[in-house]
Amino acid sequence: MAITFINEAGILPVRNFRYGYHELAHNISRELMAATILVSNDPCAYCPMGCGKYTRVEDEKYKGEGAGPEYETLAMLGANLEMFNLKAVAKVNYMANELELDTIELGGTIGLLFELYERGIIKDSELSDLEGLKPVWGNEDAVFRLIELIAYRKGIGNLLAEGGIQTCKEI
Ligand code: SF4
Repeated sequence: MAITFINEAGILPVRNFRYGYHELAHNISRELMAATILVSNDPCAYCPMGCGKYTRVEDEKYKGEGAGPEYETLAMLGANLEMFNLKAVAKVNYMANELELDTIELGGTIGLLFELYERGIIKDSELSDLEGLKPVWGNEDAVFRLIELIAYRKGIGNLLAEGGIQTCKEI
């Protein structure tokens, strides 16, 4: 439920924390999840919060199932990257589960890359492993590719795998 009220409170991370609100936040909301991809609640034992979810996506492009996404993943890999497509966020969640990557750090680091590219600090010539995909807000295909590059430490992913602070130090 947090996406909706945190967005209304103006503190949802949007565009690498540049903004705190986005009019499309309902596209990654709990309400939409409940109506589409939610299979069941899947909370940790005895937790009174009970945020855990189990979801399934049938669409070929985003196909998968598993634990999540919960608030942190929806916020950092959804709103923070302006990727307001619930099934795309679910896919990156499944990828992160499989590759054992932390979704908060992943969203923060990819958001940093998008901002560095937007500011012209990182250029296309340094991103050949992205195979022509532009690291721009909302480009889900670039996010899918970046997650693979980070997990397997290829190209720009080798630096991003060190996290945001180290990336800034070395850029
Ligand atoms: S992840 Fe969610 S369900 Fe698990 S302990 Fe934390 S708040 Fe509770």
